[in-house]
Amino acid sequence: MIYNVAQLLKDPIGATRVYDLHETADLLTDIPARAPYVGHLKLTHLNEGILAEARIVTVVEVACRRCLRPVQLPLELEFVEEYRPSIDINSGAPVLKREGEEYFTLDERHTLDLTEAVRQYAWTNLPQFALCREDCAGLCAMCGRDLNEGPCDCQQESTDPRLAVLGCLLGESERSQ
Ligand SMILES: [Zn+2]
Ligand SMILES: [Zn+2]
Repeated sequence: MIYNVAQLLKDPIGATRVYDLHETADLLTDIPARAPYVGHLKLTHLNEGILAEARIVTVVEVACRRCLRPVQLPLELEFVEEYRPSIDINSGAPVLKREGEEYFTLDERHTLDLTEAVRQYAWTNLPQFALCREDCAGLCAMCGRDLNEGPCDCQQESTDPRLAVLGCLLGESERSQ
């Protein structure tokens, strides 16, 4: 996700470039993507640098929060970030990073690397409460059985969770004898 913006920085303020994005699913090692990253990127020349507007979709695999089975869900990212030069395009003089202002930096060859922004947005937007299906029965809190595959002994023997623990333990010891 590398774009050279040297020419765009020489274009008039307000000039734009639009790109189609297509990156393989393994682009980011810490994001469990299972489909390519596809989308659009619009770059606009601002007074102080480049405004990047991105819209990207992929599919991520996360664990069902009830039964922990893998679930694949679409992940849509939409963000606007500013990138400022580290070297002045005309004079070649270094541009100091401004304290207290949030922006990404172009490298000394005026390349814009969108990867880190995509990683940050993907990471913070990973589904936290995924369900494999709306009525997922989850795991038994006592014995850990996947209740989507059928009831466990603890539930059959008692609805009181304290007794159910006993039921589970007794069941275990009976089976192991
Ligand atoms: Zn589930
Ligand atoms: Zn159980």
